[in-house]
Amino acid sequence: MQQRENRLQKIIALALVLAVVCGVLSACGGNAKTGWRAREVTVIDDNYRTWYEIFVGSFYDSDGDGMGDLQGVISKLDYIEDLGFNGIWLMPIMPSNSYHKYDVKDYMAIDPAYGTMEDFDQLAAACNERGIKLIIDLVLNHTSPDHAWFQEASSYLASLGPNDEPSAAECQYYGYYNFSKGNPGSDAWYQVGSTDYYYEGQFSPEMPDVNFESQELRKDFEAVMDFWLEKGVGGFRLDAVKEFYSGATSKNVEVLSWVNGHVKSVDPDAYIVGECWDALPTYAQYYASGVDSFFDFEFSGSTGVISKTLNYTGADNSAQAYAKTLVRVQNAIREYREDAIDAPFFVNHDMARAAGYMSHDARKVKMGAALNVLMSGSAFVYYGEEIGMAGTGKDENKRAPMYWSADAGAKGMTNGPADMEPQENRFACAEEQMKAEDSIYSFYKDVILLRNQNPEIARGTVARLEEVEDLDIAAISKTYDGTTIYMLYNISETDEKQVDMQQYGELEIAGYLSVDGGEVVMEDGTVTLPCYSVVVLR
Ligand code: CA
Repeated sequence: MQQRENRLQKIIALALVLAVVCGVLSACGGNAKTGWRAREVTVIDDNYRTWYEIFVGSFYDSDGDGMGDLQGVISKLDYIEDLGFNGIWLMPIMPSNSYHKYDVKDYMAIDPAYGTMEDFDQLAAACNERGIKLIIDLVLNHTSPDHAWFQEASSYLASLGPNDEPSAAECQYYGYYNFSKGNPGSDAWYQVGSTDYYYEGQFSPEMPDVNFESQELRKDFEAVMDFWLEKGVGGFRLDAVKEFYSGATSKNVEVLSWVNGHVKSVDPDAYIVGECWDALPTYAQYYASGVDSFFDFEFSGSTGVISKTLNYTGADNSAQAYAKTLVRVQNAIREYREDAIDAPFFVNHDMARAAGYMSHDARKVKMGAALNVLMSGSAFVYYGEEIGMAGTGKDENKRAPMYWSADAGAKGMTNGPADMEPQENRFACAEEQMKAEDSIYSFYKDVILLRNQNPEIARGTVARLEEVEDLDIAAISKTYDGTTIYMLYNISETDEKQVDMQQYGELEIAGYLSVDGGEVVMEDGTVTLPCYSVVVLR
């Protein structure tokens, strides 16, 4: 009797606790996390992060002039942090003649269109306070022709008599660029004013290439790096690294070793990611420089592995092939640097937006997010991808205004690049998607949460589970710091799948994603995955 009473008391107590918990949950409204989402997030302060790439001019306008600005980024830090990002890459913010600002006029200033240096200080401090690492685009390959260095060199050349030999000893800035008397005959050379001299501009006449042979130039660039590191940036995104010496990998690796060595001597924890837009066998070689990361072009773009896995048929584009490529890329980059940090991304500012590759099919857009963000390394997401924005054709279209609101006149909305063609977004604006549990936005948030809850996802060494033979299943393990997790991706658009995981030990579901909201369940060691789903087992 006494026992029964005790049990009854316990049941009543439990019911009370449940009632209180439910009350708290309902009081929190839709923000209460339940199921796997309630698990703890383990944040490790290292360089395996989830990064948000921002084109400042199209992001958020704080003062109503239609131009996105640094204060706008500050006011959206809550949005970025709430999605789970702990890194931000700002595309160029320095004074420039172009809307994209990849032609720098002054490496130690802020373009007035974006705000002031005080705004930047404020942004850097706010990011540091939140544990968000802030990196900025550093364009070393070329300057603007309006940079003081180029102006000095041009004036010097104009001052020479017909028989004078130019020399860097007379004008150090002459040595900062590649000049030639007479046109060397290639498309990439342009006349200096009305002189007999020509300069190299691999990208355009508005982007004269610098000459890394000049030690004075290197000293000046070191001062630039010091300046920004002192400002509180956590590192740099290096533009166009394979054009430093176009076509000469070993020379480019030497330049990168110098940059990396200098930056790390100032801040050993700084993070550097380089843009070597090339195939895997080439960008893998660049890891020999010691630079932490290079963007993983193998997986990105309309013809990359992620798009192929979702859009193409056949064994070569299967889920299993995706798993094989994860291992192949990892091994290829580790051949050049054992602690290489891969930098996976799906699209960036130079590529058409992902939704267009997938005919604006929300299920595929969501699955693409999982295939990108759950990769090992430092994962990058271009602003607007989290709401499936549209953007294709000319570059300006790929950098369209962040679609915060359906009302183009709403607070914060930017005008976008002047020559942009109107882009028709097929999915709802951020404001709407944030309220919907089944939106692309909410899916992105879940993907990043799953990544943040399981440190092995970003940091683990990948191996393929060869015993799982189904072509529609990518079956992998990730091992980090003595712990192994297992991940299964069902990349079938239509079929539920079952995978027997008993041979891998006593596992439990740590979390899962499914594009239709269906559950992943495990019974007697067999996992049942709805179509287009991913599960993490540990
Ligand atoms: Ca503005």
